[in-house]
Amino acid sequence: MRRSFSYFNRSDNLIEMAKAKLDILVIGGGITGAGIALDAASRGLRVGLVEKQDFCAGTSSRSTKLIHGGLRYLKQGDVKLVREVGQERAILYRNAPHIVIPERMLLPLVKRGTYGKFGTSIGLWVYDILAGVKKEERRRMLTSEETERIEGALRKDILKGGGLYIEYRTDDARLNIEVLKTASSYGALCANYTEATQFLYKDNKIIGCKVKDIINNSSFEIHARKIINATGPWVDQLRKKGNCEHKKRLHLTKGVHLVVPYQRFPLSQAIYFDVYDGRMIFAIPRDDITYIGTTDTDYNGVIENPKVTKEDVHYLLDAVNYMFPQIKLTEKDIASSWAGLRPLIHEEGKSTSEISRKDEIFHSISGLISIAGGKLTGYRKMAERVVDLVIEEFKKEDDYKYKPCYTDKIVLSGGDFSLPNEIPKFIENIYESAKSIGINKKQIASIVSKYGTNTTKIIDKANQLFAEVKTHQLEFLLLVAELQYTVEEEMVTNLSDFFSRRTGRIFFERPNLEKTYLLLSEEMKKLYNWNESQKNYYVGQFENELFAAVNFD
Ligand code: FAD
Repeated sequence: MRRSFSYFNRSDNLIEMAKAKLDILVIGGGITGAGIALDAASRGLRVGLVEKQDFCAGTSSRSTKLIHGGLRYLKQGDVKLVREVGQERAILYRNAPHIVIPERMLLPLVKRGTYGKFGTSIGLWVYDILAGVKKEERRRMLTSEETERIEGALRKDILKGGGLYIEYRTDDARLNIEVLKTASSYGALCANYTEATQFLYKDNKIIGCKVKDIINNSSFEIHARKIINATGPWVDQLRKKGNCEHKKRLHLTKGVHLVVPYQRFPLSQAIYFDVYDGRMIFAIPRDDITYIGTTDTDYNGVIENPKVTKEDVHYLLDAVNYMFPQIKLTEKDIASSWAGLRPLIHEEGKSTSEISRKDEIFHSISGLISIAGGKLTGYRKMAERVVDLVIEEFKKEDDYKYKPCYTDKIVLSGGDFSLPNEIPKFIENIYESAKSIGINKKQIASIVSKYGTNTTKIIDKANQLFAEVKTHQLEFLLLVAELQYTVEEEMVTNLSDFFSRRTGRIFFERPNLEKTYLLLSEEMKKLYNWNESQKNYYVGQFENELFAAVNFD
């Protein structure tokens, strides 16, 4: 059954999940859980998914936001993985071209750096072949003069040359939401702010879960043939709850990103550069900002909302100032930041950066399946492996003809352009239909970069609002239209869902946001029927987030 992914369906979804036994209950609404929900629902299984925070509030909105081609795996000699991630990248570009965008990446080669000239040339060439990189996107090696010409602010005394190659940029949270919306269109029942609190057993086997609806403060029992623990950094906590511990355990490492205004760190393309301690970090320009990351440090603190510390900040600022001596970034330049936790599988004796990024599936005696590790880039393949495993078990119990995985053919919500290069024409058409309300092409392009073909729904709402209230500023009406769309079709429940994970404004458009969030809270009050104290609660919660993004301990 096709369902809309609306806030107004959220409670009904929970009631439906509780009403009859599911085939699969997925715990965790990050990219791993979202991918599993889509894979299973598209094969005709009855699927439910519960997420204790907002969808993607864990690691899946806190990454470097790249669909990697796997260069790092090549250095580790893992040829098979390079080929797989290269193929996955091509599939994602085809199925979600509005949020998976080719990005030119500069790799400066420096004295005593990670990559040598000859090795890089061969390595990038092999990478192009293995990852199936298109001819026009293949690597180009540069002399030190050419590298300098491209990025004049790079330090010159250690520069030996450079390599230009293609990475793909995404918005992790938007990708996560588009996958969930697509899963829901195949019938998956999803609810955010719903925590799996306890497992239910029969004959020592897990047969369901007790869940708590945090918004309505109520509890349900959900029964399923199979429960999948896709809780990323929380995987071990949940395994502990179900006495499903395994000899392997997670090793959490924290990665921090800082955002600075583009004018303070102007780059002509993204760059992946050496740091004085032997690590490498990214700096990625995006509209009016540049973001820098990441750190990689052991983490043992509270998993929800990891904090950026002064030490993290100074590490990244020093790294930029070392490689770009004229830039001279200081803490005052920071416009926003985020920290995320990598749910890696512990390997004895290995340092944080040496631990493999591969995913693993743990199968407990009680029947719980847990999946951890991996990358955003490989979510589709991870999902396929898990659902294949579940189906193998189901086949022992029945003779139903289960479909094979076909998510490589499923276009994600908003991605239904016949070709990625059709996007400029799509923007032009919308402009022609909406220019009478004063909208410009830049505004449309910005909406398309988040919502793809669903932009038409937002523009329709804006047209309607404009006809009703001619007095408001267009920019604000557009924001209200966007809010209405994300409530009705992306299950937004509060200010933070909207400004952090549906639109990324807290990271990338902070100056505009300061002017609008209070106005928008009034619109939300009307939409959700909040009383004054409920509104103030959500405003307070969001202001804490705003504060934490620029204040560090
Ligand atoms: P999460 O996104 O953390 O999702 C798990 C969810 O489970 C959470 O939302 C949590 O709230 C929920 N949950 C926990 N307990 C419960 C419960 N009891 N009931 C209900 N819900 C529960 N990968 C790339 O491909 N490209 C990159 O550029 C990249 N950069 C990265 C940079 C950093 C700094 C980090 C940390 C990771 C990066 N990764 C990258 C890796 C990628 O982000 C992760 O592999 C991926 O996001 C993990 O997703 P997940 O769904 O497994 O976990």
